[in-house]
Amino acid sequence: MYVRRLLPPPLQPQPSVVSVRGFSGADVPEASIYDTCIRCGLCLQNCPTYLETSTETSSPRGRISLIRSVGEGDLDLLSPGFVAQMWECLDCRGCEAVCPSGVHYGGLIEPARAQIEAARLPQRSFFSRIARRFLLRTLFTNLGLMRFAAALVRIAQATHLDALARVFGFGAAAALAPRVPPHPLVPRDQRYDAQNAQGLAFLHVGCIMHVAFPSVHLATIRMLQRARLNVVLPSYQGCCGAIAIHAGDRDLGREMARRNIEAFERSRADVYVVNAAGCGSALKEYPELFAADDPWHARARDFSLRVRDVIEVLDAVDLPQPARALDAAVTYQEPCHLANAQRVTAAPRRLLAKIPGLRLIEMRESTICCGSAGVYNLTQPAMAKRLQARKVGAVLETHATIVATANPGCAIQVEAGLRAAKSSARVRHVVELLDAAY
Ligand code: SF4
Ligand code: SF4
Repeated sequence: MYVRRLLPPPLQPQPSVVSVRGFSGADVPEASIYDTCIRCGLCLQNCPTYLETSTETSSPRGRISLIRSVGEGDLDLLSPGFVAQMWECLDCRGCEAVCPSGVHYGGLIEPARAQIEAARLPQRSFFSRIARRFLLRTLFTNLGLMRFAAALVRIAQATHLDALARVFGFGAAAALAPRVPPHPLVPRDQRYDAQNAQGLAFLHVGCIMHVAFPSVHLATIRMLQRARLNVVLPSYQGCCGAIAIHAGDRDLGREMARRNIEAFERSRADVYVVNAAGCGSALKEYPELFAADDPWHARARDFSLRVRDVIEVLDAVDLPQPARALDAAVTYQEPCHLANAQRVTAAPRRLLAKIPGLRLIEMRESTICCGSAGVYNLTQPAMAKRLQARKVGAVLETHATIVATANPGCAIQVEAGLRAAKSSARVRHVVELLDAAY
């Protein structure tokens, strides 16, 4: 598939003719992180790829061993097995959440990918380099271009031209694409005031979120107003950079970080609110992108201390009782980057429990990744499909009619899986359910 060629390498890469020993440069997986792994294996049952394959190399412990081997010069950075495992990993951080040694796995996998991408760059074809650059550095960083692309997708969906996508090798992307609504929520410095406001919230609109899920943003704004926060949507903001960081382009991640930090500082807002778990996790981890002696490190640290998922904000304030009941069986799909990376698990359940009539039915393996993981469902379609089927099976067992979640990637992946399974269950952001009840 065409899209697979642009971002990470294929699952079984060809042997490299270039030998690269050890890590080098700015973004290095630190020995101080991988040396804390005591090889206990407690993370294995929380790793989606290990659950699917029962293979040690597809487990967190196996991958940490591989990273250590490269770091100590015993394994080639571009050896096919290493490259394949670094990209088969979902970066879902399920391992990190249960590790008794506190291994910060995200601090290993993301620099490891950056190392691979830097070493592979000279080997990429000219066209592949241009295409990768366009996708990561042009499309995702330019919200106007993202809106233009979304408009084309909307026209294709309205005229059923999207069926043609299969002919050109974009069938998987077309099957996953959410219905694009006609009106994106464009950040134009607009401000929404609350009664008896107690502070100012900066709303991060994101790249995909503002074109594919504007209704979630509108629900977020209304809920923040109910939480007595004025809301501003500064125009000078950008993509959080998570897609680039996961794809091994940490320089672009730094660019986006500097832009968003500046935007927040200029806004003089009290809190930076995000309603996409993957973005929130990247925004909170901006300090990791800068060396301790870089002046941006301190700014990133101050910034990250003000970042909150909207669920954290609403859970922390004293919301009145909802006005309306919602008579529905709801199950909650935990976004990995909310549960594992940000460790926010109880707050969404507490908020859902506020809604009269709503019956929360827990699904099995709610923290196991659904296979979305940024663009993983496009770059590793086989494993993504297995994980999607696993998740849809868990949802169907609950007989819930609504799947609540808090991340666009999960919403797209689970919704597509439910569609394929001909289920009538629908996916909603937690904040949409709350807004409907209020
Ligand atoms: S749980 Fe932590 S210490 Fe144990 S094997 Fe996994 S990463 Fe290593
Ligand atoms: S990040 Fe997720 S997929 Fe990768 S090793 Fe950890 S649990 Fe497994």
